[in-house]
Amino acid sequence: MPRLVLGSRNKKKLRELVELLSGLIEVTDLSPYANAPADIEETGTTFEENARLKATTLAPLLGEWVLGEDSGLVVPALGGQPGIYSARWAGDHGNDAANNSKLLQELANFHGDKRAAYYVSTAALADPTGTVVAVVEGRCWGRIAMQPTGSGGFGYDPLFVIPEYHASFGELSNTVKHALSHRGRAIGLLRQTIRQRLFG
Ligand code: IMP
Repeated sequence: MPRLVLGSRNKKKLRELVELLSGLIEVTDLSPYANAPADIEETGTTFEENARLKATTLAPLLGEWVLGEDSGLVVPALGGQPGIYSARWAGDHGNDAANNSKLLQELANFHGDKRAAYYVSTAALADPTGTVVAVVEGRCWGRIAMQPTGSGGFGYDPLFVIPEYHASFGELSNTVKHALSHRGRAIGLLRQTIRQRLFG
């Protein structure tokens, strides 16, 4: 039974990937692999470069199919920030509270369309030799709220409102997030390739 390794140690991201690919393939993160590096340094200048970097570095090391996923929030009114720096925008890697405070501060004088934002998820699938067989991208548009709501999801989700639902990803269920999200869309584009290449 083939399995897919997510090239990440982000447990919340892993949980989303497990749910998005349930019924198709077993997904694990790096924790079962003693020889996996603590982290892959994201030295790329685009989501795609970072996604490829994670997949091509880890796949031959682990001898497994690896999904490298790089994601983030893009706010056009802030010149595309935080973009590829989303996880470490306020300094420490993965400090969601600090990142959210910074986002509210930066947008304090912005209203209406200027609070438009989108999430990006770029995923690169590499075979066990490290050859990339597919790269996909999903996007999801929303608005940055004036204050956080809800405790679901992770990262910027309590501030990321889906206008059609009048609710943030922090408030919406996982099922709704998966149907609308950047990650849900990217993985949707990969399903066929996973079926063909890992089970074909
Ligand atoms: P990565 O691990 O380098 O891909 O960092 C992704 C970062 O982008 C996360 O730490 C969050 O700050 C942000 N991000 C990406 N996807 C999501 C999401 O689905 N919800 C909330 N924040 C996200």
